[in-house]
Amino acid sequence: MYLKSIEVNGFKSFANKMIFKFDSGITGIVGPNGSGKSNVADAVRWVLGEQSAKQLRGAKMEDVIFSGTEMRKPMGSAYVAITMDNSDHSLPIGFEEVTVARRVYRSGESEYLMNGSPCRRKDIVELFFDTGIGKEGYSIIGQGQIDQILSGKPEDRRELFDEAAGIVKYKKNKLETEKSLEAERENLNRVTDILTELE
Ligand code: ATP
Repeated sequence: MYLKSIEVNGFKSFANKMIFKFDSGITGIVGPNGSGKSNVADAVRWVLGEQSAKQLRGAKMEDVIFSGTEMRKPMGSAYVAITMDNSDHSLPIGFEEVTVARRVYRSGESEYLMNGSPCRRKDIVELFFDTGIGKEGYSIIGQGQIDQILSGKPEDRRELFDEAAGIVKYKKNKLETEKSLEAERENLNRVTDILTELE
């Protein structure tokens, strides 16, 4: 699996529709300070479901929408789509190519799309579980993040190893199963109480 392309339109400094195409090797993005290199990585984080404006180096979520320049009016929405080559079926979905997209309007309205069909944020997050690519994954390492990882709490570091080991989805399933078990236990107690009353 590899990242084939990123499409941005109205996202941060990218007012016009732009498509970055990548091959399977190494690609470097170079440019002067402030030209938008980190905004490309922010676009990938955002489309994968990032909900923290701070992680995207903004104050509020609306800051991802192109805010205008002297020459150009602000945009009303931001759109990002990334296309992954999935010919090795690393992603658990029956498509050779997967495009996930996210759009947000200034009104706060937003949507996620998977291969063109509307979906939930949860669907995208779960698709990338244990691939290292998710928004919590280790494949996007921001400036200063290495220091943060090394000096962070052991529990936070553990999350990174869990993702690399591919056990995040099992942990999540375990948590959900424990919750349902607890609910069933409560139901059983209630039934036992009623039966006792009837006897
Ligand atoms: P450096 O090399 O200094 O790290 P960079 O190439 O990574 O810089 P970015 O941090 O990606 O640059 O881009 C910063 C630029 O993006 C700034 O000029 C900033 O004004 C612009 N920018 C960020 N958010 C928006 C927005 N919502 N609308 C318009 N421009 C924006």
